[in-house]
Amino acid sequence: MKSVRKALRDGELTKDTYDRVTCVECDTPLQTRDDPDEIATVRICSDCEGTWKEIR
Ligand SMILES: [Zn+2]
Repeated sequence: MKSVRKALRDGELTKDTYDRVTCVECDTPLQTRDDPDEIATVRICSDCEGTWKEIR
């Protein structure tokens, strides 16, 4: 899984006017899922089901 930081650099994700991380392809703000098996928080696009990890 790619990190949110790298996806922002690669242009897959962007930030909207409210500073929410948003999927560029779907124009959808990401949802957050705390996965107990992951050290990182998982960010999900509900439209394309893309997932990115966010280091806490
Ligand atoms: Zn998406």
